[in-house]
Amino acid sequence: MRQNEREAIRELINEAERDVAELFRELDEREEKHTRRVLALFQEHDVAVRHFSPTTGYGYDDIGRDTLEKIFAGLFGAEAAIVRPQIASGTHALALCLFGLLTPGSHLLSATEKPYDTMDEVIGLTGDAPGSLKEMGVLYSDVRMTEEGRIDTEAVLGAIRPETRVVLIQRSRGYAWRASVRPKDMAEVIRAVHEKRPDIFVMVDNCYGAFVCDEEPIHYGADIAVGSLIKNIGGGLAPTGAYLVGSSRAIARVEARLTAPGIGREVGSYAASYRPFYQGLFMAPHTVAQALKTAILSARVFELLGFSTTPPAFAERADIIQAIRMESPERMVAYCQGIQAASPVDSTAVPEPWDMPGYQDQVIMAAGTFVAGASIELSADGPMRAPFTVYQQGGLTYAHGRIALESALTHMVEQGCLQVGGR
Ligand SMILES: *Cc1c(COP(=O)(O)O)cnc(C)c1O
Repeated sequence: MRQNEREAIRELINEAERDVAELFRELDEREEKHTRRVLALFQEHDVAVRHFSPTTGYGYDDIGRDTLEKIFAGLFGAEAAIVRPQIASGTHALALCLFGLLTPGSHLLSATEKPYDTMDEVIGLTGDAPGSLKEMGVLYSDVRMTEEGRIDTEAVLGAIRPETRVVLIQRSRGYAWRASVRPKDMAEVIRAVHEKRPDIFVMVDNCYGAFVCDEEPIHYGADIAVGSLIKNIGGGLAPTGAYLVGSSRAIARVEARLTAPGIGREVGSYAASYRPFYQGLFMAPHTVAQALKTAILSARVFELLGFSTTPPAFAERADIIQAIRMESPERMVAYCQGIQAASPVDSTAVPEPWDMPGYQDQVIMAAGTFVAGASIELSADGPMRAPFTVYQQGGLTYAHGRIALESALTHMVEQGCLQVGGR
C-alpha cells in the first residue's frame, strides 16, 4: 500500500475521533457513575477474599455465589437474581426464563417482532429439535414495531389474549436493521401491559445492554431481565455464565427450572474461583465504555466515507452493537479479515463465509478472543446477503478498537474495494 494511503487512513481516523470527542466525554462520565454504583454495592456487601473461594458438591451456603446474586439484584434494581456459571449462554438463560414463566396452553407475545435467531428453536418456530415451547403447548405471536422502530404499545395491548402470560421485549437489535430499545423507551408499554393485566410477566432480553444507559429495564417496571456474562456485564473477565434479575415472583418460578422445584437457588457449587465474576463486574463499566467508543469511532469513520450506519455515530445508544452497510461482499470480507488480523488471539486465522447451521445465508465471523465466543471482546460478523451489513461489537480497550479499525480499512484499501483520501 502506498504511503499516502496509509496516511489518509490515519488522518480519517483522527478526523472521526475529533468529531466524537464530546460523546467520549459523556461516556467517561457514565463510566464513573456506574463504577460508583458497583463500588457502593461491593462495599455494602463487604466483599472480601472469602467471596472468591471455590465450592464443591451441593454448594449449600455458597457465600461467593449468594453475595454475587445480591449485588446483581441491587445493581439492576431487582428483588432477586440468579447469576450462575452453570448457565451456558444467553440463549440458555432466555430459555430457562421462558420455561420457568410459561405453562402449557399459555401464550408468549413478543413486542419487538421476531426474537433473536437462536430463539427460533426454543420457541419452536423452525426446526424440530425436541423440547421446544411449542411441543409443550405454548402459543406464540409477535407484533410489528412502528416505522420509527419503536414499540407499538397499542398493537401490543391489542395482541394480548386471555392466555397471555409473558410479553417479551428484546433490547438489542440483534442481527436486524432496527433501532435498539432504550430502557426508558420500554416504560410506556410496561406500564400499559401491567395496567391491563397485572399478572403478565414483562421479560426483557437484556443481552448487549447492561451499563450502556443510565438505568436498566427493571428500573422501568420490567418483571425480569436476562443477559449473558460473556457480554457487557462480565467485563471481559467472566469466563462463562449468565444472569437473570427480577421480581421475587418471577425468580421463584425460574429457579425451580434452574435446578428443581423446592431446591431452586439453594444449590449449585462452582469448583473454580468466583474472582473473575466479581472483578469482571468491577471492570464492566469501563469495558462497556471502551466498546462503545470503538463502536462510535467505527460509525463515524464509515459515515465520513459515505456509508450508512445504525446507530449513527451521534445517536443515543441502547446496546454495544454497531451495524455498517458495506454494500458489497468484497468489502464485508475484507473488513472482517482486517479485524481478525488485528486480534490478540488467532490473528493468523483468515475468516471466510461459511454455511453455519441455522442460517439461510452464508455467514462470516471475525473473533480473536481470549474467552471463546465472547462478544464483549472485539468481533465482527454478519450474513452474506445484500446490503452486506457488518455487525461489530465489543472491544476490551479503545486503543485496540482503534488499531483494529485501521487494520480493517487497510485490508479494504489493499483489496481494492475502498478508496480513502481525495474524497
Ligand atoms: C447474544 C444474544 C443472545 C444469545 O446469547 P448467546 O449467549 O449467544 O446464546 C440473545 N439475544 C440477543 C439480543 C443477543 O444479543
